[in-house]
Amino acid sequence: MDAARRNQYLDAIGIDVWVPRAGGVVDVPRAVAEAAPTDGMLATAPVAPAVVPTVEPLDADAAARWEALRSQVLTCTKCALHSTRTQGVFGVGSRTADWLVIGEAPGAEEDRRGEPFVGRAGQLLDAMLKAIGLSRETNVYIANVLKSRPPGNRDPKPEEVAACLPYLLGQIRLLQPRLILAVGRIAAQNLLATDTPLGRLRGQIHHFGELNTPLIVTYHPAYLLRTPSDKRKAWEDLKFARGVFRQLM
Ligand code: URA
Repeated sequence: MDAARRNQYLDAIGIDVWVPRAGGVVDVPRAVAEAAPTDGMLATAPVAPAVVPTVEPLDADAAARWEALRSQVLTCTKCALHSTRTQGVFGVGSRTADWLVIGEAPGAEEDRRGEPFVGRAGQLLDAMLKAIGLSRETNVYIANVLKSRPPGNRDPKPEEVAACLPYLLGQIRLLQPRLILAVGRIAAQNLLATDTPLGRLRGQIHHFGELNTPLIVTYHPAYLLRTPSDKRKAWEDLKFARGVFRQLM
């Protein structure tokens, strides 16, 4: 991706892009983040070039195992959340992706539409992923720790996580991602079985699960909508993740 296009994508996320001042002595920020409301920034995001889907086909066996897991999730009654959800939210994206993004749990919009990260936070997540060349249409898979919405978007209870985690582990076993990006404190702390604050989990390569998959932690896009001044740190995390991924190839 060339620098001009990346800067456009960063503009869309709301990250200040530093450009040389004419004369070249000092760098000045192009005021982006604080200048415009995030909704507006997303609404005026540059249109992505037409993406030609490059999703590799799944063999019939793998496709059947994915579908079996999906139908288990959609009919699951293992925790009380099944009685308040509209529907289970399984996951979305390429089932042959190298990248897996893991969030916390469906929100209201996700519960209604049956797809992770489709509300405002999802739009920001998509913009962030686009800035490092990823999209749910082609080369990333997106799932949550919980597949059912907690009422009022409260934090997941430990028993809900315990009941739901086997589904995520099943998705990871099928996908075998090269890299996991955990977005937000709840996802990071549950996956890493720690109560270390998110700020201290950033900037390191953790490992997850039976395949010892490298895992990197960043902020949740909903948090970034509330705290746009931390978008720059999230961009550092994404660059870190992209660098780690390149080293794995
Ligand atoms: N927040 C999440 O963590 N996941 C979603 O799917 C939506 C919002």
